[in-house]
Amino acid sequence: MSIRRKKAELLAQGLKRHGIELVVFDFDRTILDKHSKGFASRDGSDLKDYRHHVSCDFIAFAAALARRGIGIAIATFADDLIAAPIRLLRGRNILGGSAFVKAVLAPHLSISEQDIVALYPPLHLFSSYPPFKRYHLRCLRLGRGLRPAQVAFFDDDAGNVRDAAKQGYVAIHVTSCGFRFNSLSLMS
Ligand SMILES: [Mg+2]
Repeated sequence: MSIRRKKAELLAQGLKRHGIELVVFDFDRTILDKHSKGFASRDGSDLKDYRHHVSCDFIAFAAALARRGIGIAIATFADDLIAAPIRLLRGRNILGGSAFVKAVLAPHLSISEQDIVALYPPLHLFSSYPPFKRYHLRCLRLGRGLRPAQVAFFDDDAGNVRDAAKQGYVAIHVTSCGFRFNSLSLMS
């Protein structure tokens, strides 16, 4: 077994023992080791490029979680509203929001769009979404009838992680650009 696989199994096992039923990941700079524009052309080189930037440690970890029956979900600010004006100019081939995230992950991981919350609150001027990723986490958690303590959340943004920890989630700061087993810090 490779070192990466061993680390993935150990971390997934630890979370399982801790009672975690769902692991939620941020997308940009957590699953990806770069920041995306939040959209890509369905058959363009940008989509292929993002697929190459999915963290190898994340792929191994996602497989280890799935082997233990732990759910995987994504909480991202890559809102489809970011893609909407580009789609008007360049046509329907432009993917945004959860469809974009799903397409980037497709070669590595099968995830349903229902398990992706892609929303950037400041773009929704006439709605009053709570700050940070509170809305995302609440949607994903309540959809499964879970308590915050049964959900682990990984994000490279310290503000999002700190807020999630305050809400009672098991919140882990990804301190590198892209998920790596040796760059994780539990925040309490
Ligand atoms: Mg991020």
